[in-house]
Amino acid sequence: MEFGQLQNLAICVENQGPVAITKASFPLRYGKYSEIKTPEYEFRFNLNGEIKFIRGLTANWPHPAEQLKRTDGNDWVYYSVGDDSSDNGINSWLGEYYLPCLPYPSNSIWEVNYLANSNIMNAFATWPQLYANLYGARNGGMHSKAKNLINLILNCDDRVLYERSQKLNAIIGRRVSVLPPDTRHVDYEIIPLMIADGCLYHCNFCCVKSAQQFKTRSETDILKQIEQLKDFYGRNLENYNALFLGNHDALAAGDELIRLAASEAYKAFRLSENNTITPSLFLFGSVDSLLKSKNTLFENLNHLPFYTYINIGFESVDKATLSYIGKPVDQSKVLDAFQKMLYVNDTFTNIEITGNFLMGDALLIEHYQSLAELLRNASAPSQGKGAI
Ligand code: SF4
Repeated sequence: MEFGQLQNLAICVENQGPVAITKASFPLRYGKYSEIKTPEYEFRFNLNGEIKFIRGLTANWPHPAEQLKRTDGNDWVYYSVGDDSSDNGINSWLGEYYLPCLPYPSNSIWEVNYLANSNIMNAFATWPQLYANLYGARNGGMHSKAKNLINLILNCDDRVLYERSQKLNAIIGRRVSVLPPDTRHVDYEIIPLMIADGCLYHCNFCCVKSAQQFKTRSETDILKQIEQLKDFYGRNLENYNALFLGNHDALAAGDELIRLAASEAYKAFRLSENNTITPSLFLFGSVDSLLKSKNTLFENLNHLPFYTYINIGFESVDKATLSYIGKPVDQSKVLDAFQKMLYVNDTFTNIEITGNFLMGDALLIEHYQSLAELLRNASAPSQGKGAI
C-alpha cells in the first residue's frame, strides 16, 4: 500500500514480504512491515511502528545489500556481506550471505568495526532527523492510514524503544545473553521464553555464563511469561515463527517442562496460523543434559508441531584443552555426546542437533588434531543435519 511522496518521504504503510525467511544475497525482506524512504535512506518498521532496519541508498553506503538491524533487545547489528557478496564470499564458508556484526565484542567471529564507518554512522544521525520530520508532518493533509502509521512511529521514540527492551528483560527475568547459532535460519527473529536459569558447568572460558546454579522455572512462571509476551509483542506477533527456550541449558529442564512451554507458546503465539511453514524451536543443551535425555524426550520433541534445533557446547575432545578452558567435563563424555548427536539426527526427522567446538590462537595443537580426527571419522549419515 503506497502513499506517495510527503516532504521528500515515500511512505508505504504496509508491505507483505515472504513469510518464510529465505537466504539471499540481496537485502532481507520478510513478514509484514512498513517502509519510509528518503532520497538517501530506507527505514523499515515492524507492525508496532518500531524501527527495525535502516539501509543507505546512495553510493556512499558500503554495499547495497548491507543494512543495520535493531533487535528486540534494542541493539543495532550491522549486516555485512564482507568483501565479496557472491556465492564465493561469506556464503562459501558460512552458508549465509550475511555476517551480523555486533556492537559488542563477545561471540564475534570476524571483527568489523562498523561504528568507525562515518557513512554507516550517518544513518543513525538521519533516524532522529526522520523522526523530527514525521513529527512536523503528522498534522498535514495525508491519507488516514499514513497518518496512523506516522503516529505509531512517533509513539516509539528512542526512550520508548529502550524501555520496551527493558520490559522484555523483566518479563523473561533476564537479558538474553546469547542465542543458539541455529537461530540464523530465522534471522535471529525468535520469541524468548525462559524455562531454566544458570548452567551446569560455569566454564572458565565462557563470557555469557551466569553465576547462578542450574534451576528450572516453575510451570506458573512459564505460563505467566507466555501471557505477558503475547501482550508485549502485540500485533507484530504475527511476524514470528520461532521460539527460543532459554536459557543456557534448556535441555536439562527435561521432557515435561520443554513440552509444556513449547505447546503452550505454540497456542498462545498462534504459531499454527501460518500453515505454509513449520515453526522452529531452538534450545541449548550441554554434554550432560544430552547424555541424560532419554529416547522418550526425543520422541516427544519429534511429535511437537515444531522443527527443533538443539545446540550443544562440546568445545573440545582433547583432555588438556578441556582442562585449559576450565570445562569440567570428561573427554569420554564429550565423545559419547557427539555419538548421541549423530544418532538423534539420524533417527528423528524433526530434530536437528548441532555442536560447537572452540577455535582460537591460544588453543593447543592437540585440540585441532583431535577435532580433525573426530570429524574425519564421524560415520553416521548426515541427513543434511548437525552442523559443527
Ligand atoms: S559454555 Fe555453556 S555450560 Fe559453560 S559456562 Fe558457558 S553457558 Fe555455561
